[in-house]
Order: sequence, then C-alpha cells, then structure tokens
Amino acid sequence: MPDIIQLLPDSIANQIAAGEVIQRPASVVKELLENSLDAGSQSITLIIKDSGKTSIQVVDDGKGMSETDARMSFERHATSKISQAQDLFHIRTMGFRGEALASIAAIAHIEMISRLHDKDLGHKIVVRGSKIEKSEATQTMPGTSISVRNLFYNVPARRKFLKSDAVELRHITEEFTRVSLANPDIAFVMYHNDNEMYRLPKASLKHRILHLFGKNLNDKLVPVNEETEVANITGYIGKPETARKTRGNQYIFVNNRFIISNYLNHAIRTAYEKLIPAEQYPTYFIFLEVDPANIDINVHPTKTEIKFEDERLIYNYLRVSLKHSLGQYSVSPSLDFGTDTNFVEKHSRTDNRQSTGFTTGDNSSYKPQKVNAAGWDEIYKGLGKFEVPTELDSSPDARIIEKEAFSLDENTESKGLINTDKKPWHFGLQYIIREVPTGMMVIDQQAAHERILYEKFLKVLKSAKPASQKELFPRTIQLDPGRSEVLKSILTKINSLGFEMEDFGHHSYIVHGTPAGLDSGTNLNEWIEELIQSYIDNIEFKLDIDENLARSIAVSSAIKRNKRLETEEMNLIIKGLFECEMPNISPSGKKCFLIIKHEEFTKRFTL
Ligand code: ADP
Ligand code: MG
Repeated sequence: MPDIIQLLPDSIANQIAAGEVIQRPASVVKELLENSLDAGSQSITLIIKDSGKTSIQVVDDGKGMSETDARMSFERHATSKISQAQDLFHIRTMGFRGEALASIAAIAHIEMISRLHDKDLGHKIVVRGSKIEKSEATQTMPGTSISVRNLFYNVPARRKFLKSDAVELRHITEEFTRVSLANPDIAFVMYHNDNEMYRLPKASLKHRILHLFGKNLNDKLVPVNEETEVANITGYIGKPETARKTRGNQYIFVNNRFIISNYLNHAIRTAYEKLIPAEQYPTYFIFLEVDPANIDINVHPTKTEIKFEDERLIYNYLRVSLKHSLGQYSVSPSLDFGTDTNFVEKHSRTDNRQSTGFTTGDNSSYKPQKVNAAGWDEIYKGLGKFEVPTELDSSPDARIIEKEAFSLDENTESKGLINTDKKPWHFGLQYIIREVPTGMMVIDQQAAHERILYEKFLKVLKSAKPASQKELFPRTIQLDPGRSEVLKSILTKINSLGFEMEDFGHHSYIVHGTPAGLDSGTNLNEWIEELIQSYIDNIEFKLDIDENLARSIAVSSAIKRNKRLETEEMNLIIKGLFECEMPNISPSGKKCFLIIKHEEFTKRFTL
C-alpha cells in the first residue's frame, strides 16, 4: 500500500490558518493596525470602503520594510518580533506569531508599498491567493501602506456569513477604538467611504477618550492611578452617572493590549456596588501594566483573552483601587439602593424626565387613544378568553399560547383587568398592583411602558403622521463619531417619528423638536445617545429599521424602576398596556404583568 500522508501546500495551510485569525473585515483592521504600531509609527490612517467588504487600507509612517522583508512578510511564521523561544516570555509587541499577513494573503488581494526611512525608493508587492504577482521598485513616502481588497473572494462561505454593512462597520470602529485608546501618543485618522469618521491628534489619554466618546464625558471621568507589586493600574473610570443600560464603554488593557475578562470586569463592577443600579454597566478605560513573564497572552488566537499568574491578587487590587478613586472624588457615598430613592433619581437620567412618557393632553398623538367607559368594555371583552399569565404559569410554551390568545374577541367576557374603580397601588417602586376579578394583577411598570411606547411608535412609523413638540430654544447635541455616523444614516427615519433634528457637522446636531409626549428633560443629549446605542445594539438582531427604531425609543424612553408613580400615571399605564396588541411581553422580552389568583392566596394561607 502506498504512503498516503502528504504535507499540505502552503496556500491551503494559510487558508486554514486564516480561518482562525481572520473572521471578518475587522480582524484585518486589527492585524494591520497592530503591525503599524509594532513598526513604531507616529501617525496611522485607516481607509475603509463598504465596511471593509470592498477594501481596507492602512497607511503608516513606521520604519518600513526592505524589499526582502516585504516579500518575506507574507510567509507563514515570518516575523521580525521573536527569534528564540525565550522571547515569548518578554513580548511587548502586538504581533509575534508571524501569521497575519500570510493568512490575509491567502484569502484576499493585497497590495503592499513600503519604504525604509534611509532609502530613496520604496518597493511595491502585489499578492493574490498567496502568490506574489508583482514586485517592483516604486516612489513612495517612508513607511508602509497595505491595502486589502476583496476579502474572502475565494472563501464564499465566509463572505456569505458577513453581517450587514452596519454591523461590520461597527466591529471595525470597535477595533479602531481599542487600538487608538491604547495609543493616545499616536495620531489616527479613519475614513469610511470617503467620510472622515475620526481624526485623533496625538493627545493625553483623557483627551483621546473625549475625542472618541464625545466631550460629554469631560468632568465625568475619574482618574485611576495605583502602583501595586503585581500590577500598575492607570486609566479613567466614569462617574456613576455615566453608567448605561447597554454594555458599551468598557475597556481593559493589559500591557496595552485590549482584553476581555469577565473576571476583571466583575472586580470593577463590585467597586461600583451601591453606586449604580444592578442592571447598568459602568464606563471604564483601565490599563494594567504587568510583567510579561507573569501572563500568558497566547491562549487565544485573536489574543483577547489572557491568563494571569496572580489573578486573585489583581482582582483585589483592581477593586480596591477603583473604590479608592471613586471615594477620592466623593462619588461613593454608602447609600443603599433599596431604600434611598433620591439617590437613584439623581443618578438616573430617565427619572429627570417626565414620568409616564405620555401626556394626558389632547395635542399628543402618542397618548393612549381616548376611550370612553363603554369603549373600554368593548375593547377588553376578549380578555376573558385566555388564561392570563400567573405566577405559576410561566413556561415559554404557555407564553406563546397566551400571545396568540390575547386577541380581541367580542364573544367573551372581560376579566376586568382595566376596571377603573379599583384603585391601583404602587409596590417596591417598580410594580403596579390592582385587584382584578380573578385575583391580584401585578404590572412591571418598566416592561409595560416599553410595550406601550413600542406599539405607539411602530404605529406612527407605519402611518407616518408624527406629532412633534417644538423646543422653545433649539438645542445642540454632540455625539461621538461612531454614534454620529449611525444617527446620520437614520436621520430621516428618526425625524419621521417626530424628532426634528438637523445635522450640524462635526458630529453635532440641532434639535428643534422631539416626539410629542416624550419629555426629553434636561438630558436630551444622553437620551439620544442611549437611543442610538440601543439602535446599534439591536442591529445584530436583524430587525427591520422601523421595528428597531420603535424598540430603541421605547427602551430608552420608558419609565424605569425606582420611579414613584402617581395614581393617575398608574391608571394610564394600565389602560395603555391593555390597549396594546400584545400586552404580555415587553419588546425587550420581559413579562409585563402577571396575575396571582385567589386560589394561590388560599393555598398559601393553608397550613
Ligand atoms: P507578526 O506581526 O506576528 O510578526 P505579521 O504577519 O503581522 O506577523 O507580519 C509579518 C512581519 O511583517 C512583521 O513581523 C514585520 O516585520 C513586517 N511588517 C508587517 N507590517 C508592517 C508594517 N506596517 N511596517 C513594518 N513592518 C511590517
Ligand atoms: Mg502582526
């Protein structure tokens, strides 16, 4: 029998390696930016076309490559960064495996132009499918430019699995943000489809943060600076008011490398204990400096995970130093969330706004439709038909059945869910409780209000008849470039909801009006930021744009927990909820209400 084992040709081996290193355009961006950093660049420009699907180019003024090095750089395991095993324990460069360029070359078209600083001429190399197609001397600036086109041209399955442009662009800006945050002493520029998205001059870390995340963060950042025997901890953390409902501005770097660590994330979280509500995420930009010999950054091919030798120690130091920083800036009073609501109100943006989010006046098109007493009965007739969710009945199957059953049916009796002569009461600053014929109904105010707003905005979007509430004095808001780009792309849509926003350039917008019935209060900027963030987060779910917008507005504008409600507001929520087509579940998937039956009480009181 003949021998059957063969060595894979390099081109195939590289394609396989590429599968691990290059998942999407953003992975190319990461590798190219890191190479430019390793080359000692002072200024790096990233130029993207069509979210990287058409082309990704990085231009730097780093040390450049000789002709031989330029050719060599596309070979697998070709690296200038380590030469002996011992070097692995002292890695300070971003790359060291020598597989990025070889991998990219296997799945894209590359053009590299590079020139050493002490040479007059540079060199150009064109690579297709791992083969050098052209290699010639050329005039160019010192440094390197690498352009990657038609990514995954020969891996159709990969190409097919790329997400929408918005999602891929978001991954790219995220990589760009991580790299540029970690290197404020280097200037960065990023273009997308000829739009300048970021222009970041060499700056202090604080200014880099403000350039990236918006000037609003100014005076909301607390410095961290702690030296311990296992790690130096520096950076900035956000004051409690910068905490958000979506995970977002959370960055940890170890030896200037962005890492993801639930463990350290948890340490930071606990430093904020009692300062922010449990469902919010603090903002932080933390840099740990540790001896490279005490970490293993080699555990993950894309190197965002890390192993520390002194993990527990680092956890504790981190937690203590952040607490210390928060304390120094007197933002950590020892208040208990459960009892002190003033504090929560002070630190929760939405609580500064109008309580219910819909008005009782007649000029608003978002308030619940006016229904007279008789009308109410008509509308709620169908409710008796199905079993409303009870405490004991929450299996997913049951919920689906409820959803379908919750349609109006003239032939059945109302269950009296909206009976207005029963007075509601408020419990735990979160639940509205009201007696109903079958027992006790408990409504989650936030979930319910989200549902109400969601259906209203969806209707507005479908009918395109928005009502706007003019600002007495138009206000200007300032966004970070990433969110600004997104807002720009949905501006017309968002204005069709009753916003009147105008692009004012440089990532600022003039707000002439907001949807009637939604009071933006004093924190218009943050409200819109949150709305856009929610929109961005939803993009992953591939909702259609209307659905996403309605959901984002609902979630960012709904009344929150820990908000005291007046009887009239509770009544409005109850009415509004049962006017909804699907009152059971909030757009973010929470149960809006449940009914605890009489029998349940009887059972519990039986010994
Ligand atoms: P690694 O970064 O792990 O060494 P890469 O495949 O990313 O491997 O790059 C291979 C080599 O090509 C690098 O070690 C470096 O010597 C060279 N190189 C890549 N990009 C640049 C650049 N922008 N400027 C100078 N040299 C570069
Ligand atoms: Mg590299």
